[in-house]
Amino acid sequence: MLEKPIKVNEERLWKRLMDMARIGATPAGGCNRQALTDEDRQGRQLFESWCKAASCCIEHDEMGNIFARRAGKEPGRPPILIGSHLDTQPTGGKFDGVYGVLAGLEVVESLNDWSVSTTHPIDIVVWTNEEGARFSPAMIGSGVFVGEFELEYGLSRRAKDGATIGEELQRIGYAGYRPCRRYPIKAAFEAHIEQGPILEDEGVQIGIVTGVQGMRWYDVELRGEPVHAGPTPMISRRDPVRAMHAIVAGLYRLAEQTGTAARVTFGDIRFEPGSRNTVPAKIVLTLDLRHPEEEILSEMECALNEIVAAESTSANVEGAVRKEWASEAIQFDDGCIQAVADSASALDYPAIRIVSGAGHDSVYLSKISPTAMIFVPCRHGVSHNEHESAKKEDLAAGCDVLLNAAVRMARPVV
Ligand SMILES: [Zn+2]
Repeated sequence: MLEKPIKVNEERLWKRLMDMARIGATPAGGCNRQALTDEDRQGRQLFESWCKAASCCIEHDEMGNIFARRAGKEPGRPPILIGSHLDTQPTGGKFDGVYGVLAGLEVVESLNDWSVSTTHPIDIVVWTNEEGARFSPAMIGSGVFVGEFELEYGLSRRAKDGATIGEELQRIGYAGYRPCRRYPIKAAFEAHIEQGPILEDEGVQIGIVTGVQGMRWYDVELRGEPVHAGPTPMISRRDPVRAMHAIVAGLYRLAEQTGTAARVTFGDIRFEPGSRNTVPAKIVLTLDLRHPEEEILSEMECALNEIVAAESTSANVEGAVRKEWASEAIQFDDGCIQAVADSASALDYPAIRIVSGAGHDSVYLSKISPTAMIFVPCRHGVSHNEHESAKKEDLAAGCDVLLNAAVRMARPVV
């Protein structure tokens, strides 16, 4: 342990973020640096030039993930892994992902500045195609790394423009030889903008991320009878809208009763045939349910099934719930969470515990390594947007916390 917490170089971190943002810059002030495009290559090369200047040793794996290592004092020790992604949405911002990568670099550069050696090495990592904007699914680089997907599956993912990940890796020179396979990791950290409004609303600089919400996607299908809007009395209709309105109200009530951590979202509602003077034959509602606790999410699912069954019967229509996709709730590692909390308190930064509402590479990492995340506020909670914005001092504060948490885990040589 160091006697006092050390700090990063706020101006250097900010300058690096702004330099990176020039690659793929959009007129509205955002970034379009999608995975494995020429812009992504330029961003990767810029990042690597900084890593080399900081004396890191760089390797690429078969999925194009980049690992930049600052050596530890004892060979063979598992590293502290710090990183995120450099790819963006087509109309993305300057900070989502990029902050987590450049915060890792800033940790290494600060350790160099402060002449701190650590027992364990530090690996800065850039994961390929986190966003899922050009190639689906999202988080494919970290997914293959932890063994969630086969390498062949990862390399064969095809973009809308026709190219596969494997072909694009070859084209931009990032098809590495190192196997894309997990290796022993002592602890993994990812710093990220919150992408929600909680820290800003609470006036707090640091979010100690304790886990990631569980998410489940459903299609709710309601079938009735298409009849004329005029001649058919209300009483004799089999109207799916009547069931839909009761189901939507029931689900909003369920969210309220379950508490503030519950999320219910009807993102898309399709009517068939979709004609102004005909009762719909069919309605399909997409439903996204979220909660940080898997058990409560299962209770919400039971309630959903009951509500749809009861309201369909009462409206005399046929109701069905189809589960389309699920991602389990993740609890991060107690030791890593504690390292983040202790660092924030040693630095005297206001901090609260928070659960991530969005997915991150750390979700996969947490399956194979002790993991935690650090959030900093972003303006109005906006992200995946060209107007995404964060304050220089908040970004530096998050990076200070990251630095000291990493040092605790990497065991400084004193
Ligand atoms: Zn991200």
